[in-house]
Amino acid sequence: MRALIQEWPLLCHRIIDYAAIQHGAREVVSRSVEGPIVRTSYAAIRARALKVRTRLAADGFNRDDRIATLAWNTSRHVEAWYGVMGAGMICHTLNPRLFPEQLAWIMNDADDRMVFVDLTFVPLMEKIAPLVPGLRRIVVLTDAAHMPRTSLSGAVAYEDWIAEATVGLDWLPAEETDAVALCYTSGTTGNPKGVLYSHRSNVLHAMMVTRPDAMEISSRDTVMPVVPMFHANAWGIAHAAPMAGAKLVMPGGRMDGEAIWELLDSERVTLTAAVPTVWLMLLEYLRQTGKTLPWLKRVVIGGSASPRAMTMAFEKDYDVEVIHAWGMTEMSPVGSLTTLKPENSGLAGDQLYDLKQKQGFAPFGVEMKLVDDEERQLDWDGKTFGRLKVRGMAVASSYYGGTGADSFDSQGWFETGDVAHIDQLGYMQITDRAKDVIKSGGEWISTIDLENLAVAHPDVAEAAVIGIADPKWDERPLLIVVARAGAEREAAPILSFMEGKIAKWWIPDEVAFVDEIPHTATGKINKVALREMFSDRVS
Ligand code: ADP
Repeated sequence: MRALIQEWPLLCHRIIDYAAIQHGAREVVSRSVEGPIVRTSYAAIRARALKVRTRLAADGFNRDDRIATLAWNTSRHVEAWYGVMGAGMICHTLNPRLFPEQLAWIMNDADDRMVFVDLTFVPLMEKIAPLVPGLRRIVVLTDAAHMPRTSLSGAVAYEDWIAEATVGLDWLPAEETDAVALCYTSGTTGNPKGVLYSHRSNVLHAMMVTRPDAMEISSRDTVMPVVPMFHANAWGIAHAAPMAGAKLVMPGGRMDGEAIWELLDSERVTLTAAVPTVWLMLLEYLRQTGKTLPWLKRVVIGGSASPRAMTMAFEKDYDVEVIHAWGMTEMSPVGSLTTLKPENSGLAGDQLYDLKQKQGFAPFGVEMKLVDDEERQLDWDGKTFGRLKVRGMAVASSYYGGTGADSFDSQGWFETGDVAHIDQLGYMQITDRAKDVIKSGGEWISTIDLENLAVAHPDVAEAAVIGIADPKWDERPLLIVVARAGAEREAAPILSFMEGKIAKWWIPDEVAFVDEIPHTATGKINKVALREMFSDRVS
């Protein structure tokens, strides 16, 4: 029997419709790429997104055309992406930190027809555009006064482009299962793979993210996603904040500690989110200046493991609750968060930080399981680790173009590539990416645990661990350290600091000091590049 309830498709542009109706005056504040702070509202963003939709149709773009963005988090970027989605087209957010050749490869793979480019990335686009024959239009996200001289043929300023949209079309009707956005994983191994989101998956994911046991976003919050929109939809916040009616603060292109602090303080941000490298810069800035975080209530740390020292600094020194989160582009991206259950809500001190070292429990809509190499399901005892598999309402069912099919099994489980354990309360902890884990004398060593411990030492600014060849043990960990400014580059104190805190045989035999640790395009430690740097030592 069919239910007698209205069909009301879950469509992304309904989020901005809702925000405009119920929270229309709520501010959206951006540090613009031109420099000044720009203030607008959800109502204005919706009106301008409709102009984008109208202008795209006038330019002859069709349903399902891939329309790319190469842009920072700003209100113009938000307008463009709701406009594209509401036009029945697919918004493809590009990661500007990739090399031009990688970006051209991705744009050709996606068959992008048009691109919105920030001023910052015009020189980059000049290199890419000749390599992307299918590209028909380039819109620079600025006004005529700031339009640069460029070799990009037919490039127009965004403000001029939308000004010509005078007809006033409504959103194009769509089904909730239609594709709406495309995001590529950074592809540290092999070619990048495209994840194609639906209206439905984005809307459901946004609902999941706003919930109290997730990021707990309400209309009383001021939310600043420092995590870029090109990193899996700003972890869903670009949908979740307007859905909740929260004030939105967009940091633009400046991610240094000072710039981030300025916005956190001046806009009274209550919730923010980014990868640990961003928070390293902020915490260093706070240490140097003595500044504090009086308004901030919660910080979401994900993308790679939040070191214990970082969690403690936020919670103890600045009274900001850390929500450690794990996810993947393939999961839209949120998979788990460390909010508290009644069973552990009384935890304090070390026990609380132990819990927050975990990546948290899965919210409704995400299923997890652990398996061994024979695909046998493993217990949730907080010790036994295995390959982590997931499925859910916002998890990819395959990659765009059909690559990487071996990541999906016949029951719909997606192989995350992570090794983890899960405790009896459902809290999952990542031990490593399967390809980073070190096998020493037949036993596994977690590089994440070693890195987290190393950065707790006062002389260590950043640390990474890779496996190096060892005649006796097969592999041993090499600790690679960036020393804090002014600190001695001495191995012994760091290694003795580890004693008693982890199994003795886990302690690295060697420390290599470097000036800089390479990062991936999403701000994670780039272990592939590190293995190349130490290629004479790697197994
Ligand atoms: P990219 O490779 O493009 O950065 P993702 O952002 O999708 O792609 O990366 C997902 C991976 O990042 C996960 O499989 C996991 O290995 C790692 N990761 C994400 N969050 C965490 C976390 N909180 N702790 C440890 N690892 C994490």
